[in-house]
Amino acid sequence: MFCADCGSEFRRYADKGNERWKCSRYLVKNRLTCKSAMIKEDLIEAAFMRVLGKIDLDEIAVKPKLDTVAIKQNFSDPFEQAEYLYSISKVDDFDYMTDKLLTALKDKPTSFEGDFMRRIIKCIKVATDNTATFEFLNSKIMSGSLQVYTQMNPYQQPTTRSV
Ligand SMILES: [Zn+2]
Repeated sequence: MFCADCGSEFRRYADKGNERWKCSRYLVKNRLTCKSAMIKEDLIEAAFMRVLGKIDLDEIAVKPKLDTVAIKQNFSDPFEQAEYLYSISKVDDFDYMTDKLLTALKDKPTSFEGDFMRRIIKCIKVATDNTATFEFLNSKIMSGSLQVYTQMNPYQQPTTRSV
């Protein structure tokens, strides 16, 4: 899991039943270096489950288009060339990874399972605006809100909540 703000990895803070994650660059040598928030683990799990509920299996299997101009191009800069070759290899991998992803999604769990998430998610990025971006095996991306909903008064009519 990574910080969308500074790109650093998130660190897990275990706290008996109240596991939290925080950007590892939050404090460096006692200096505040990243302002991203402390995220409760169950919020990430809930966001993942909402994303899972919204997956469009047709959409997620649509291969991203490669820029046809870029394919013909040969970069003189070795770094640009390496990046270009990498981008092609990623697309080559797409069908294989999509197959794996769709197979895994055939038995998606009804409640959160860490193993399942690790199987289909390559990377999670958390932004300071409380959105989590989930990158699937095949590099497709879906975002979900990590918004905390205030506890509803049980005697009140439930209000509609957005996903
Ligand atoms: Zn950060």
